[in-house]
Amino acid sequence: MPSERRPLIAGNWKMNGLVADGMALAGDVARRYREAKSPAFDMLVCPPFTLIGKVAEAVAGSGVAVGGQDCHRDAKGAHTGDVSAAMLKDLGCRFVIVGHSERRTNHGESDADVRAKAEAALAAGLAVIICIGETEAERDGGRTLEVVRTQLAGSLPEVGDAAAVVIAYEPVWAIGTGRTPTNAEVQEVHALIRRELTGRLGADVANGIRILYGGSMKPSNAKELLALPDVDGGLIGGASLKGSDFWAIGESCL
Ligand code: PEP
Repeated sequence: MPSERRPLIAGNWKMNGLVADGMALAGDVARRYREAKSPAFDMLVCPPFTLIGKVAEAVAGSGVAVGGQDCHRDAKGAHTGDVSAAMLKDLGCRFVIVGHSERRTNHGESDADVRAKAEAALAAGLAVIICIGETEAERDGGRTLEVVRTQLAGSLPEVGDAAAVVIAYEPVWAIGTGRTPTNAEVQEVHALIRRELTGRLGADVANGIRILYGGSMKPSNAKELLALPDVDGGLIGGASLKGSDFWAIGESCL
């Protein structure tokens, strides 16, 4: 990863953790980051909504950022059970993930929905991590690049600060399965994303946008993935639930 892009190591805790678990994990991550001598990477944890406030307090002053896993497209209103980007910001979040494949699959979210959420996040002053990635059938059918290009085009915000956008390439078949694409396959997709961003936003902006890889990243494969030229960090699910594994992935950036 080129020096103009500081790696981002982001943990997606998904629907895991009661207060005691979340406090222990957040405290562990914050302590490691605080004690590290000038870590060469940014670190982010995205707990479930219920833990965000407490986690934000637990990591305050450590340098570890907090994010949400989703937000509503509207700023406020009659949306029972939903949470707005401004509410996340109010709790201390700096980031929000949108378009995770589990949201696209379980909640039927389209690219247009993801774009609207991304625009809402930027309007609220959050940085937004936009997830895209192909299914196994799409990869087997030779459609990976076409699917990623279409998802990116449909999900990118049309208004707001493009510099606050992060893209996460997450092949759906690699999430939580222990399987990953080859390094060459990962780089091929990340390079495509960079080219598409360049065409849309210009080279100056595109070269500053971080493109994370997500899907079964763990301490044993992180170093080689993070060394790829267009991989600027990781979005990590399972391995982010154990402080030592999450930290080891961060250290792989060094
Ligand atoms: C994810 O859900 O974003 C993810 C990458 O999960 P895992 O690391 O467990 O594959």
